[in-house]
Amino acid sequence: MMKHYDYLLVGAGLYNGVVAYHARRQGKSCLVVEKRDHIGGNVYCEDVEGIHVHKYGAHIFHTSDKRVWEFASSLCEFNRFTNSPIANYKGEIYNMPFNMNTFNKMWGVITPDEAREKIESQRAAMASKEPANLEEQAISLVGEDIYKKLIKGYTEKQWGRDCRDLPAFIIKRLPVRYTYDNNYFNDSFQGIPIGGYNVMIEKLFEGCDIMCGCDFLKERKELSALADRIIYTGAIDEFFDHSEGELEYRSLRFETELLPVRDYQGNAVVNYTDRETPFTRIIEHKHFEFGTQEKTVITREYPADYRPGMEKYYPVNDEKNQKLYEIYRKKAEEMNSSRSKDEPEVIFGGRLGEYKYYDMDKVIASALSFCDREFA
Ligand code: UDP
Repeated sequence: MMKHYDYLLVGAGLYNGVVAYHARRQGKSCLVVEKRDHIGGNVYCEDVEGIHVHKYGAHIFHTSDKRVWEFASSLCEFNRFTNSPIANYKGEIYNMPFNMNTFNKMWGVITPDEAREKIESQRAAMASKEPANLEEQAISLVGEDIYKKLIKGYTEKQWGRDCRDLPAFIIKRLPVRYTYDNNYFNDSFQGIPIGGYNVMIEKLFEGCDIMCGCDFLKERKELSALADRIIYTGAIDEFFDHSEGELEYRSLRFETELLPVRDYQGNAVVNYTDRETPFTRIIEHKHFEFGTQEKTVITREYPADYRPGMEKYYPVNDEKNQKLYEIYRKKAEEMNSSRSKDEPEVIFGGRLGEYKYYDMDKVIASALSFCDREFA
């Protein structure tokens, strides 16, 4: 007879890490089941020659949410890393996000007024029209030239579709500034955990029983009998065996190389914004932590259509998928309200459970507010 738990946490990423941490502080017992052979979700890092390699894509912690920052900082110390990616368009180098350095390099303009005038002249065609898609949104924010050199190719590679078929909100993630400020984020707090993300993850799941290499959906009946409540952070459509249809996701393929040089590209992130280069960016991991190792590790990031067996990195939050997600969300509600007394309630959380293009801080905020309700 196996032990009975207060919580069964399916998936060992940030959402369940936050829940585990607070549940343990309330003296509740947690069993964590994780499909992969390690905990940490997509922030997990692999140590290669003393360099913390972001195995599932670059993660830079940034937030303006004081509560989230204080919580994260209570788990680990953060370094002073500030993300300032550069864009390489066919050998031309531009600063990101879109700011006076970018405008100066693109057009030779020096003052904010000159930049505004230039962008204004390029967005004339948009007039006062409300942007209906990503292309219109981008042109209306930064004009034609920047759209063509720094946005169109990169975005179409990343999402595998035309910018006119993509929602405008994706590009609103990026700041547009009329100052010489290369900080990619507008947030008040930013950094990388000293010692890497695994330090934070270990703290979050301390005191839990953990089963790695365990696919909940393959053993759902036996596992569900072990706990009073289930927090499920896998894909919501998979939970229901795709009964209402498949939600769409974007995937990624990473090519990682250890190189016998100290510094490959002089920056943590270099975006390749032309359409022809097959990858979107090269990450040089040591720069996240100001590494001084003799060698370096770089990762080329290739966007990919999602196929079964691949990782689901990005939900595709367009209208069609959003509608389908809503159907699944209601189905989950109905399942919970019509369950029998001895069946555990299932709470869906995180990027895949909520089908939302969440940043790390938003996942933590969502989990914290769940904990507020749960442990009030
Ligand atoms: N983007 C772009 N050019 C760039 C970097 C980003 O056009 O050089 C756009 C692109 O549409 C992308 C979006 O901005 O999907 C968000 O990029 P971000 O780097 O925030 O995405 P993530 O790091 O989450 O993959």
